[in-house]
Amino acid sequence: MDERYDVIIVGLGPAGASLAWLLRNSGLKVLGLEMVSWNRLWGKPCGNAIGRHHFAETGLPEPRGDEIKQRVEGIDIISPKEDVVLRVKGEGYMIDRTKLGQRYVKEAMDSGVEVRLGVQALAPIIENGGVTGVIARNPDGSKTELRGNIVVDATGNSGVLRRRTPRQWPVNEPLKPTDANIAYREIVELDYEIEEPSYIRIYVNQEIAPGGYWWFFPEGARRANIGLGVQGGRGHPNPAVIYREKLLSRPEVRPVKVLDASGSLVPTRRPANTLVWNGFIGIGDNAYTVNPVHGGGMGYAMYAAYVASKAILEAHEAGDYSARGLWGANLGYMRTLGARQASLDIFRIFLQCLSNDDIEFGLRHGIMRAEDAYETSVTGELKANLGILDKISILLKSLGRPSLLPKLVLVARYMSRIKGLYQRYPEAPEGLARWVAEVEELYSEYKKALGVDW
Ligand SMILES: Cc1cc2nc3c(=O)[nH]c(=O)nc-3n(C[C@H](O)[C@H](O)[C@H](O)COP(=O)(O)OP(=O)(O)OC[C@H]3O[C@@H](n4cnc5c(N)ncnc54)[C@H](O)[C@@H]3O)c2cc1C
Repeated sequence: MDERYDVIIVGLGPAGASLAWLLRNSGLKVLGLEMVSWNRLWGKPCGNAIGRHHFAETGLPEPRGDEIKQRVEGIDIISPKEDVVLRVKGEGYMIDRTKLGQRYVKEAMDSGVEVRLGVQALAPIIENGGVTGVIARNPDGSKTELRGNIVVDATGNSGVLRRRTPRQWPVNEPLKPTDANIAYREIVELDYEIEEPSYIRIYVNQEIAPGGYWWFFPEGARRANIGLGVQGGRGHPNPAVIYREKLLSRPEVRPVKVLDASGSLVPTRRPANTLVWNGFIGIGDNAYTVNPVHGGGMGYAMYAAYVASKAILEAHEAGDYSARGLWGANLGYMRTLGARQASLDIFRIFLQCLSNDDIEFGLRHGIMRAEDAYETSVTGELKANLGILDKISILLKSLGRPSLLPKLVLVARYMSRIKGLYQRYPEAPEGLARWVAEVEELYSEYKKALGVDW
């Protein structure tokens, strides 16, 4: 039977459930498909940490009650030798993902969104140059064809629909292994009481977590989410092996019970070149809407859902579901959060080139101060910018590290250039190819100047 909807959202993780929630009460006929059961909603392995500001920015409800495992007051960023600790204040939560996800989905269902669980999308239906529906497998194994004016891929890394779009479509943009982190984490009960559970800890150490970091995120006084991410595509060891070999022997990692253990991939790059094409929107991990420096993707997925919800309402109003009709999602994302994300991506590449000695030096001598580290991760502006480089120049010379200065100048300049380019994201699909060529040119210039060959 052919079933018709205004919007079909595939995947009800942070991206898809947020969109379903934002479209509740919209008057649109919305269907959400999710392959897992109710008890496994938002079940992807995660550090479970989210900044509070994301809720205010999107209008999505803040976690409450037992959806909160721990209130967060800030982050401690710890140097490779562990004798420099930058305390960065900022409110956030350690959440119970499943409980928060269940609330978003339930509230969406209560306000008219149809949800089918245990249904796996297999492929998009492509007709006349656009996506017009989804082929899915029902829980009983039968197949069904569902038609929608707009089909949203919110399936996370698997990008089940996006990957099956025609290769020449700009949304079909593969992820390079070096633009991702392979991450592994365990949630454990500890045999001691954590001193300050409201501060989550990030340990920067290229020897333990090459091209990433390892973390210790308290979930209450005696429980923690502990894990690490390593850059993909560079032959680094599997993070689960590193966890066992290098983290389990540490004094603060003393599990009496392992409650959950699993890993997955996190994209750590600039956003996909376009979130939309004819009849199609991609949001969340499959469209690479993630902070490239710390790999936090829940808040970015929510923001992508927020801009998508607005674009869907505009497209519906105009009766135009083409790339042009949905373009507002790109303008809403790329010129704001996307610009910061791209700028942070430039910074991420620089960080992945640094040795432990460089990082130790930078943190110890305040080249990146705590406020700067936070501001950089939120705004995508490197505070060690051209304005204060004179001061840094004197410091670097006096400390015998003059070679770091040109690199910092280079990074600050390219961060600002890419941000500008994203703020000038094309008004309409016709400008996309040219803009993408400019972005790619900027990246290849930058990587060449930095001496990066991956
Ligand atoms: C180890 C680790 C630690 C992390 N730590 C943090 C952190 O502390 N904070 C943070 O903000 N981010 C963190 N992230 C990133 C974060 O988990 C993701 O960015 C976020 O979950 C992305 O949400 P999403 O909705 O795009 O995808 P997902 O969470 O992957 O959700 C996708 C949904 O689609 C469903 N689906 C997939 N395929 C199909 C199909 N064919 N048919 C139907 N449904 C389908 C899945 O079942 C799932 O429910 C971490 C990631 C990892 C791997």
